[in-house]
Amino acid sequence: MNTLARESNSQIVKFPDSGTVLPGLVELIAADLAPKVVDIDVNAAYPKEFMHKLGAIGGFASMTPTEFGGSGRGLKHAIQVIEEASKECVSTGFLIWAQYALQWYLVNSANTELKSKMLPKLAMGELLGGTGQSNSMKSCCGIEEARLKATKVEGGWMINGTLPWVSNIGVEHFFHMGATVEGETGLLIGFVPGNHPGLTLVPSPHFVGMDGTNTFACQFRDAFLPDSQVVCRPGAEFTAFAARTKSAFILLQMGMGLGLIDACAAMMKRSNKTHSHVNRYLDDQAEDIEAALLEARAATYALADRIDQDGSAPYVKDTLALRLAGGELSLKAANAAMLHLGAKGYLLNNAAQRRLREAYFIAIVTPATKHLRKELAEMEQAPACCAA
Ligand SMILES: Cc1cc2nc3c(=O)[nH]c(=O)nc-3n(C[C@H](O)[C@H](O)[C@H](O)COP(=O)(O)OP(=O)(O)OC[C@H]3O[C@@H](n4cnc5c(N)ncnc54)[C@H](O)[C@@H]3O)c2cc1C
Repeated sequence: MNTLARESNSQIVKFPDSGTVLPGLVELIAADLAPKVVDIDVNAAYPKEFMHKLGAIGGFASMTPTEFGGSGRGLKHAIQVIEEASKECVSTGFLIWAQYALQWYLVNSANTELKSKMLPKLAMGELLGGTGQSNSMKSCCGIEEARLKATKVEGGWMINGTLPWVSNIGVEHFFHMGATVEGETGLLIGFVPGNHPGLTLVPSPHFVGMDGTNTFACQFRDAFLPDSQVVCRPGAEFTAFAARTKSAFILLQMGMGLGLIDACAAMMKRSNKTHSHVNRYLDDQAEDIEAALLEARAATYALADRIDQDGSAPYVKDTLALRLAGGELSLKAANAAMLHLGAKGYLLNNAAQRRLREAYFIAIVTPATKHLRKELAEMEQAPACCAA
């Protein structure tokens, strides 16, 4: 049965059953992801096989047009896939987001040759990868300095600098990076393989959560980026590119939050079967979290449809506000689940404490809570603090 929710403007939004998002998805998650979540969380196991299998059933194809080997089912569908995986594991949900983010920049690139060559393999999960755009987004908003610099040379660009964290990568993976160019506005965006000459991948120190994400620091030392690997040039091309890509890139992250919040509400309801007599004294109850989830889900799906229809540019502010609310609700839900589960939730193999660490990631990954609040505050004063 479909679930219905009413969006704030009274539009009725239909939620699909988990089983109807993508044929084989629920079965794949149950067989290949659910049994591995503790290994991913505690032992930093990277779910490479699951990712390839997910790609093979169309789990990465939604935002890539059919002419480039995707399914073209759209942003909402991509969010739903991330949401389903995140009901079990946000670390894996983040990897799926990274795979979509990588393709999304290519989809919006004018480099047709690169798109034709790479998108079909990325859409089907034959090749995997991520995005090093956190520093670009933060530098565009005046939060930190741009860490990569590009200099024009014959046939391409010379890249120098270090990105401290890029996930879902390795020597066989791909990612895109953004670099400043002296005298130009905006950024040069490039598409880079993990074994690119002049690039060194340095494994990150261990994280307290999200440790199975294959996260590396990327050091560029006179790394030559040929023009054939340029996704977007600085200046006017970048301004238009950023306007086209921004909302969808960020709204996609809502899949992680929706999946996590759903899982937290389910945990609270299970706990209430034996402990409702005492759980009922807690501030946030399962019904409160579920009601907020239905609203957030309805708002996310409706916004995704609007972005698919009209493009990213008109919806940046709505997206930032919803993404902020999604991070806050994730923290609230995980906190409530932990308090419901009590000491049991404190065990290393119990999902409640993992959900808490995952929720903090949703709130701190770029755009982080403080970043979102800064950008929204600046938008109130002057429109478009930054494009990326
Ligand atoms: C598990 C994980 C995965 C991530 N994956 C990606 C990704 O795929 N792509 C991407 O672009 N970004 C990624 N990030 C970065 C993330 O999006 C944020 O930009 C980052 O967490 C910093 O945000 P912040 O708001 O805390 O920044 P700030 O408040 O500005 O603070 C960042 C702080 O971290 C410090 N720092 C930087 N690098 C390191 C390091 N290697 N070790 C210790 N301290 C350091 C800085 O000096 C600074 O003090 C990832 C981060 C984590 C934790």
